[in-house]
Amino acid sequence: MKPGPTDPSSRDPAAAKGTDIVVFITRHDGKCAECGADFFRGNFIRVEEQRALCLGCADLGHLEYLPRGDVAITRRATKHSPLRAVVVEWSRSRQRYERQGILVTPEAIRAAEAESLSDAEARARERERAADRRAAQEPVFLAALTAAIRAQYPGCPPAEAERIAGWAGAKHSGRVGRTAGAKSLDLEPLRLAVIAHIRHEHTAYDRLLMRHGDRNLARQEVWPVIEDVVRRWSAG
Ligand SMILES: [Zn+2]
Repeated sequence: MKPGPTDPSSRDPAAAKGTDIVVFITRHDGKCAECGADFFRGNFIRVEEQRALCLGCADLGHLEYLPRGDVAITRRATKHSPLRAVVVEWSRSRQRYERQGILVTPEAIRAAEAESLSDAEARARERERAADRRAAQEPVFLAALTAAIRAQYPGCPPAEAERIAGWAGAKHSGRVGRTAGAKSLDLEPLRLAVIAHIRHEHTAYDRLLMRHGDRNLARQEVWPVIEDVVRRWSAG
């Protein structure tokens, strides 16, 4: 499937240059070619070799959206983020893809705001985001996810297990099946969430992906490190 009326790589200037990782705001409903998750008009997707991927499968699920508008924050967040994707949307009136914002790490946004805003403003923004995150997650489900991760990976530090659970369990993500209920949690999505976390936080993966723009190449390079951490966490 295609996100726009034409092959995006031939139309989007950023993609054509081959420098930026481009994410599309899709105009169509569809399914992720890797995990099969539904996505809908207005969702963010990545297109690789004509296949539409959800951000989780494209290894971009840990990034946060920063809409365009504040040039200083955008510039500083770009500087602080090891990995960045440009979000574009097809403009019917102008017949071209237009930049809507960027995806960067939450830490980069926080650092950019701390530099750009007064302390009071930065704290107010952070409170807003924390409230958004809480609203998107159900505490009971998160606690069950955290416990399941700790049971499978006794060596995983508790704080990291909580972060993985928060990331995997975010309501909008659909990364971990919610219908099955906490008692029959499917372990495979958890394992994938743990691996994704290790990849982004314990390896140079984000920088490699930014440099190569090729997930497979970057994944191969960091795989031994991931295996090592998984072994240690599994052993407890
Ligand atoms: Zn997917």
